Amino acid sequence: MSLRVLAVASECAPLIKTGGLADVVGALPLALAGHDVKVTTLLPGYPAVMAALGEARALRRFEDFYGGPARLRRATAAGLDLVVLDAPHLFDRPGNPYLAPGGGEWGDNGIRFAALGAAASLLATGAVRGVTFDAVHAHDWQAGLAPAFLRFAAPRKPCLFTIHNLAFQGKFPLSLFPRLGLPAEALSVQGMEYYGTLGFLKAGLWYADRISTVSPTYAAEIGTPALGMGLDGLLRGRGGQVSGILNGLDVEDWNPATDPRLAARFSAADPGARAANKAALQRRMGLEENPDTLLFGFVGRLTWQKGVDLLLGALWALLGEGAELAVLGTGEWGLEEGCRGAAAANPGRVAAQIGFDEGMARLIYGGADVVLVPSRFEPCGLAQLAALRYGALPLVAHVGGLVDSVVDANEMAIAAGQGTGFHFAPVNAEMLAATIGRAARVWRDRAVWRRLQANALATDVSWARSAARYAALYREMLADAG
Ligand code: ADP
Repeated sequence: MSLRVLAVASECAPLIKTGGLADVVGALPLALAGHDVKVTTLLPGYPAVMAALGEARALRRFEDFYGGPARLRRATAAGLDLVVLDAPHLFDRPGNPYLAPGGGEWGDNGIRFAALGAAASLLATGAVRGVTFDAVHAHDWQAGLAPAFLRFAAPRKPCLFTIHNLAFQGKFPLSLFPRLGLPAEALSVQGMEYYGTLGFLKAGLWYADRISTVSPTYAAEIGTPALGMGLDGLLRGRGGQVSGILNGLDVEDWNPATDPRLAARFSAADPGARAANKAALQRRMGLEENPDTLLFGFVGRLTWQKGVDLLLGALWALLGEGAELAVLGTGEWGLEEGCRGAAAANPGRVAAQIGFDEGMARLIYGGADVVLVPSRFEPCGLAQLAALRYGALPLVAHVGGLVDSVVDANEMAIAAGQGTGFHFAPVNAEMLAATIGRAARVWRDRAVWRRLQANALATDVSWARSAARYAALYREMLADAG
């Protein structure tokens, strides 16, 4: 049976992006098309989204939608079927979608994203004649009120809610409740009330028919007090209704055989040209150019979550092995300074580029021997998927999606010709240091290393499996709804 799904999110690559959420929302519709699922994506009308629309058809006008006039407009952009909530009083603001120019969140974020949730519910339940959907797929707290509005609307439409990162919860003061447009019964612990606040993520988790997150291991972890961020009780209560579906990569875009940002292109069958990328990376980063030096890379946000302090704490082990390190990222000032300091203290051995640079990121994935992902928690993670695709062995913390996507090359695995990278646990600097040592020992046996690299390059990191799982989940949800 062909399905029509309304996806609701605040980000969608390539139109508007601050994190991995955007990549998933942008890639999934194309991947689902092969499973007879037609996705329409509802987005806020940010300037970047409006600019990409071109011809847009007005579906419905509202004279006063959460404090100003608004329109639902339909258009195609970047190969996606979109409906945009064109509400200038809420979304016509430059820059980051959540932060005001001076930093700090926009004061009316609660209203802005209540409007998004309400628009999703209206659209899904027939507010626009001739436009219907079988189910709704809401992503993260910004779309958390969509399942809440849907629960109180008719006809009933089943809703899947996907958590991309439980750390971002969308909490607002209780005093905002009368302006949200939800019935009074929603203001309850059996609803969106969350420790004396209004919880948009909590609402999504409470009212959705099904919940998913972006890896099987993270789905299990968020049911524990250690990683549940206060919502583990609710999630445990929903038990079998929480699924973990690993993110994929757009393997057309992330393709080492065609990537123009690499110094040299290569294929899984013949990765020899990686050597030219390694040399280019060492040169561009100011590292000593030597093909035999084990080269570690890091690409990501320089934050506590990403374990950058652990990396700095384990640097002695890396240097002790005679290895090199190339860091690319931006983030917390103290960690940026830490990386700069490590580079200054170890010229030719450690390099840090502070900034966002897609070209350099690709060169690290395509030229480093190992990509480090020492995250304290990681719902899915894309860096390790990119590393596998580009033939760098991921060395990862044993958490979340990193567990599900990298196969540890332990002794038995190596003996069996298996393994695509290295895991470390517990997640601390000492164990990271020890695992850097383990990787260095494997590096000394190039035949084994080449085997692991071939395994990494052969890993299917595409959306194929996961798109099939989302399609099956939508159908299960519909079958349950009867
Ligand atoms: P996050 O928690 O930040 O979403 P992910 O691993 O899911 O982490 O996704 C991060 C993505 O952004 C990866 O594709 C990574 O390559 C990219 N990225 C992160 N920082 C940078 C940077 N400074 N320059 C280029 N790409 C970056």
